[in-house]
Amino acid sequence: MKSSLQDTLLASIRNIADYPRPGIMFRDITTLLGDARAFRRAVDELVHPYAGNKIDKIAGIEARGFILGGAIAHQLSAGFVPIRKKGKLPYETVRVAYSLEYGVDEMEMHKDAVAPGEKVILVDDLIATGGTAEGATKLLTQMGADIIAACFVIDLPDLGGRAKLEALGVPVRTLVAFEGD
Ligand code: AMP
Repeated sequence: MKSSLQDTLLASIRNIADYPRPGIMFRDITTLLGDARAFRRAVDELVHPYAGNKIDKIAGIEARGFILGGAIAHQLSAGFVPIRKKGKLPYETVRVAYSLEYGVDEMEMHKDAVAPGEKVILVDDLIATGGTAEGATKLLTQMGADIIAACFVIDLPDLGGRAKLEALGVPVRTLVAFEGD
């Protein structure tokens, strides 16, 4: 990867100490999204390995995964599937519990959003412990999806999320990493 890409992306991500709780360094991508060049480069770089492949669906995790995932779906001529917090989707859903730093929550997708055998790329802005992406992977697997990859702009490698997804057989693509949490 060209270092200029890393520099562009790193310079466009805002770091906010002690948000939402003391001790957390929040990696804010709203500044990346608001920077036309950084947004375009992040999307182009995430889709690069899959250009020319037949990808059926992009599954985006609420809420920042919707923004990146919509742009990626457009670029790859794929459909978009929202994975949402429970109670938000209007039609019949499949649901899975997933682990958060403290406790568990549930996420859902429409039961007809992905057909068995469809090639799907999972998208979110950041992978930390991997609990959220693991939950989404379980939902997609339950639907019979063929998960080609999971893509994130930011990796927090010390929290082990990438390793967790790779252990499930899901290839992981990330663009920049921050050491620590
Ligand atoms: P995890 O399930 O631990 O991998 O957490 C990933 C989800 O939480 C993603 O949807 C991220 O947007 C959000 N998240 C976790 N840690 C951070 C962080 N330090 N800065 C920004 N977002 C985060």
